[in-house]
Amino acid sequence: MANVDRLNRQVLNAYWIVAAIVFVVQIAYSLAEEGSDPDIRIGSVLVRSLLVVIVAGLGEILYASFRRYGRQVVIGISFTMAYLNYLNLGLYTENTPGILLIFPMFVPLIYFDRRLLDLFGALNIAFYAVFYFAIERTIYDRNIEDFVLRISMLACSLLLGRVVLSRAIEIGRQVEQLTKTQQDLIVDKAISQRLLKTDSLTQLYNHQTFYEYLEDLVEQCKRNGLNVQVAVLDIDNFKKINDTYGHMIGDLVLKEVSIRVGMAISPNDFAARYGGEEFAIIFTEKTPEEAAKYAERIRSGVEQANYSYMGNHPVTVSIGLSAYEPEDTAETMFGRADAALYRAKRTGKNRVVGYDADQDALSPK
Ligand code: GH3
Ligand code: MG
Ligand code: MG
Repeated sequence: MANVDRLNRQVLNAYWIVAAIVFVVQIAYSLAEEGSDPDIRIGSVLVRSLLVVIVAGLGEILYASFRRYGRQVVIGISFTMAYLNYLNLGLYTENTPGILLIFPMFVPLIYFDRRLLDLFGALNIAFYAVFYFAIERTIYDRNIEDFVLRISMLACSLLLGRVVLSRAIEIGRQVEQLTKTQQDLIVDKAISQRLLKTDSLTQLYNHQTFYEYLEDLVEQCKRNGLNVQVAVLDIDNFKKINDTYGHMIGDLVLKEVSIRVGMAISPNDFAARYGGEEFAIIFTEKTPEEAAKYAERIRSGVEQANYSYMGNHPVTVSIGLSAYEPEDTAETMFGRADAALYRAKRTGKNRVVGYDADQDALSPK
């Protein structure tokens, strides 16, 4: 919309420039003319120029008052202006400047509006016919050849305008289509990137993305002293669930656990399906105590969930936790959380255990 307003403004500005040019041309013509009183000639130029200024001013007023019909006002004024100038300049020459009547036909083109072009094009031809027989023929005694020439010129410009517009509209559609294809490609790319990063069963991040993110965060811990904790979660006795209720039910349990993990963590945390029935969570901006609290929320959330599809058979998880230590890498951090998980399993499962160097043996590299 703002674009059309700008175009309208440019056309309205052009009317003022046209008014100035016509004024200068008329002064030049009348000075060059010989015979009649120069004062009268200049006076007549001023009166006629005033008419052009009035039309341009009227355009401004109508445009400001009827913004909804901005295009119609702009085109209508350009026709009025064209006929006025045609009359004004026609006074000085035998060959009336018929080309002036074509210019307004170009205005509808800037709006890419075929209906406006047809409407004003047909109006222009009809109006010129009336104008010729009512004024040009009766008052100025212009010959009929002039009329035929002008009408053919107007009809040709209307046809030409229609061709130009069709082509412009066609190109506009092609550009629109291209933009749409480009947008579709961007969306497709975003979707496939997301698919590459996530696990299809649980919609959590996958193993690879987990490591990429953890490596990144470990780097930031080294540089900016960020607080990072890792939790490794393993479903207790999952093999038995599979064996008793089948793999499909096992998959439902995996989904339920992933939902419980998602519900318990905060937006800054990062949950992934590490593999099989193991999950990994990265807690950011939390102390070890806070991370343990969140891990406990996950554990109790899984325990309290409803597993009606397997007769409310209980599902529990064990969780091992580790906090970032200087010199850590993603692997060493994960290794300590895994060692803590192992102790959680050994000491009865369904519990959260933080890594303890005295109690947890690290598996050899
Ligand atoms: P623990 O309490 O010591 O962890 O015992 P567990 O039975 O959970 O451990 P184990 O590693 O023996 O069994 C894990 C099972 O998880 C074995 C595997 O068939 C099953 N599993 C791995 N991925 C999937 C999966 O995508 N869907 C299903 N339904 N089962 C899976
Ligand atoms: Mg396991
Ligand atoms: Mg298990």
